[in-house]
Amino acid sequence: MTFTANLGTPRFGAKRELKTALESFWKGKLDEAGFLAACAELRRGNWQLQQDAGIDFIPSNDFSPYDQVLDTTAMVGVVPARYQWAGGKVDLPTYFAMARGGKTAAGDVPAMEMTKWFDTNYHYIVPEFEPDQKFQLTHNKALDEFQEALAQGIRTRPVLLGPVTFLSLGKSTAEGSDPLALLPALLPVYQAILRQLAEAGAEWVQIDEPCLVLDLSPEQVAAYQSAYQQLVGVTHPKLMLTTYFEGLRDNLPLALGLGCAGLHIDLVRAPDQLEAVLATLPAETWLSLGLVDGRNVWRTDLDAALAKAKQAAEALGPERVLIAPSCSLQFTPYDLDLETKLDAELRSWLAFTKQKIAELSALKEAFKSGSDAGLQESRKVLASRAKSARTHTPAVRQRMAAITPDMLKRQQPHAQRKALQDSSFDLPPFPTTTIGSFPQTKEVRAKRAAFRKGQITQEQYADFLREETERTIRFQEEIGLDVLVHGEFERTDMVEYFGEQLQGFAFTQHGWVQSYGSRGVRPPIIYGDVARPQAMTVDWSVFAQSLTDKPMKGMLTGPVTILQWSFVRNDQPRAETCMQIALAIRDEVQDLETNGIRIIQIDEPAFREGMPLRREDWTAYLKWAVEAFLLASTGVRDETQIHTHMCYSEFNDIFAAIANMDADVISIEASRSKMELLDAFKRYEYHNDIGPGVYDIHSPLVPNQADMESLLENALKVIRREQLWVNPDCGLKTRGWTEVEPALRGMVAAARALRAKLG
Ligand code: GLN
Ligand code: ZN
Repeated sequence: MTFTANLGTPRFGAKRELKTALESFWKGKLDEAGFLAACAELRRGNWQLQQDAGIDFIPSNDFSPYDQVLDTTAMVGVVPARYQWAGGKVDLPTYFAMARGGKTAAGDVPAMEMTKWFDTNYHYIVPEFEPDQKFQLTHNKALDEFQEALAQGIRTRPVLLGPVTFLSLGKSTAEGSDPLALLPALLPVYQAILRQLAEAGAEWVQIDEPCLVLDLSPEQVAAYQSAYQQLVGVTHPKLMLTTYFEGLRDNLPLALGLGCAGLHIDLVRAPDQLEAVLATLPAETWLSLGLVDGRNVWRTDLDAALAKAKQAAEALGPERVLIAPSCSLQFTPYDLDLETKLDAELRSWLAFTKQKIAELSALKEAFKSGSDAGLQESRKVLASRAKSARTHTPAVRQRMAAITPDMLKRQQPHAQRKALQDSSFDLPPFPTTTIGSFPQTKEVRAKRAAFRKGQITQEQYADFLREETERTIRFQEEIGLDVLVHGEFERTDMVEYFGEQLQGFAFTQHGWVQSYGSRGVRPPIIYGDVARPQAMTVDWSVFAQSLTDKPMKGMLTGPVTILQWSFVRNDQPRAETCMQIALAIRDEVQDLETNGIRIIQIDEPAFREGMPLRREDWTAYLKWAVEAFLLASTGVRDETQIHTHMCYSEFNDIFAAIANMDADVISIEASRSKMELLDAFKRYEYHNDIGPGVYDIHSPLVPNQADMESLLENALKVIRREQLWVNPDCGLKTRGWTEVEPALRGMVAAARALRAKLG
């Protein structure tokens, strides 16, 4: 007998019910009981769905009102002192204050830090550990939810975030102190949680240790060994040690040596690891095969998955093999059946959570019956996708094959280009500019909504956007900015705007995935060969340039960022899809140039987050990511100035790559680190121009001019004055005009003061 298992179900709700409940609760329109009832209803629905599909191992405690890492943090009593927590169960107001800041008994307190969950676009709340952190079981949430499901007639397999991953994802409040040192203090709490689950009748627990797929430090290895020595015990439920997002590689012996009753491996990201696992899996150990992609939206190749299941069953015997998704399904949208606007062909290629759960059952059925009758449909669809003209457009294929090395470089090195650009633009020293967007005010959003609902015409909407653009240009002229932008009022989202105009992209109505807490994103689906049927931004840029004598920057989103923030086709390497997008952007860059736009910015905020989880894979990624940027950006004359923008300050790992991108100007985040990161630019002898952000646009505080001046002076200690641009550290779209106006005036004044002093 082979089993099916699920590792986690989206909690956001098919129609974003969690978002609705959270926002109503925060606004006081829903009381606590009402909020908790909405959460319980989401859990009930998920359990029901899986029970109806006949899933053998159904997860519980995969639900979270905000974030599963924060749940763990609260459950083991790691509440930072500023929240003035009195002990005991962490109540909802404290929990949400930790998640998003807010009012507590102690007054206004800031939120805890949030960061990306491995290489997903989900964000978790980072635990903060004191060097002498005490732990206590405040309340066993896993037990509550196990019992709740039991009352619904379902014996679930509770999910816990493993202790080593939990500590590894946290940060210490004291410099130089390692959260892993807290393991001995933490383990008794995990033991208590497991013991209570065992007493309540939990036979298995899924213990998530995704850190096992990363490069591990010797301390982490030691922590794994000592943790599981103490957790694998006779009185405890059996542990399904769960790994995902990559293969185990050199950590496989470690994982197998931990003595857990079962191991889950990701066979979507790392299909080849099956052989090694089968060869070394200890007798009696169960193996859970991650065969259905939990990170993407495609229908599974059930034949290939079945072959892997059979291979495992032959090696181990069928009674300890589980068929599962690669990771929790929380990263996929809920239900394809809600997508009534997608065409039938494309729809047939896709599977969201509900459909993936059905695939698990279909696999088990085929396995049990020995008949592949249930796989016919999947086979047919896969064949249709493989030969569809939408996935293989000859013109795109020909262009891809015709890419030559000289399409990946500018004509002359930066120094020569800079001389040409300097005489062509005649900019003052320390030129000032912004990153692109200006405030997307209530009014802008209201007009867009009205247009979408058909309440105003296309022409009325375009008029409004033109007025808004012109006003923004006049403002920039008035305050004396040197390189202007049009403001991006016509865009809601920097990826969606381009995806909607490119061939090969589709958009869903309800394809939401949780980004963090109450925030969802609806990533585009790249299903086919990418091409640009017509210019995407030229009209706007030409219109904007026609209003001013100052140079107007054309604004594009880079190929890596478009790739990274989409669901990407899985029938060819990501690199290939990225190069196709790059070709489309290259065409746009050339069209902008032909139409008189002489400065073009290609944003790559997701460049760094595309980095693979394992260091040994970085070189290969950086090679194609840089090539994609080069392909997009180098098809112009040397007089044309290419900018790029990345809104973070961690450049150490990607320094050489940044230099190889060879943008004439790069704008980055720098104000929060007080320009310290520029040291690296000096150390690596970065020669091109740099605009280190002089103020943090994420804060509503209006920066003061003297602070910006001193940041610029700091910058000049490490980079040459000819290199330095002056700009904020990201786009201004989330700010209001009352903040933006004085901030930018101050910024221009700071640049002028510097010119006067050094000019
Ligand atoms: N040009 C974009 C803007 O200003 C850049 C956004 C980003 O870096 N995330 O909004
Ligand atoms: Zn940015």
